[in-house]
Amino acid sequence: MHFSIKVSELPRVLEVLPDSDSSELVVFLLFGKGEQAQCYVEVHIQGLLSLKCQRCLTLMPFELSTVHRLSPIRSDQNADDLLGELEPVLMDENGLVDVMEMIEDEVLLGLPMCPMHEMKDCASSMIESNGSLVSQEKKKPFAGLADLLNKKSV
Ligand SMILES: [Zn+2]
Repeated sequence: MHFSIKVSELPRVLEVLPDSDSSELVVFLLFGKGEQAQCYVEVHIQGLLSLKCQRCLTLMPFELSTVHRLSPIRSDQNADDLLGELEPVLMDENGLVDVMEMIEDEVLLGLPMCPMHEMKDCASSMIESNGSLVSQEKKKPFAGLADLLNKKSV
């Protein structure tokens, strides 16, 4: 099954985003059985989000794309019993998994801890080069004036 959800429906994700994001995420859920007959759900999440670059503090686009196979376990079960690439997702006392919560966790896991532009795209590198330009000019504040005076005397 697949469906789309708005980021605004995921309060914990919204908390870590720099502004109220109206982006939509596309979610695919595929159900299957693992080698040991454990049920799992393969969760695909894709979408474009805005994150704040930790270097220049402006917004940057981030393409989220995560795929994880989650296997529901009871709280008294040992997650280590799961085999292969399956990851545990906790069921509630009724044996149900909160799908929205699961998706929210997956989105949070898929976000970078410290999002940053590529150096060439980052505004902070532009600020630095502008800064050095300014200080160079400051070294010779009257350089342009001398040229002007020379021209006038000719
Ligand atoms: Zn940046």
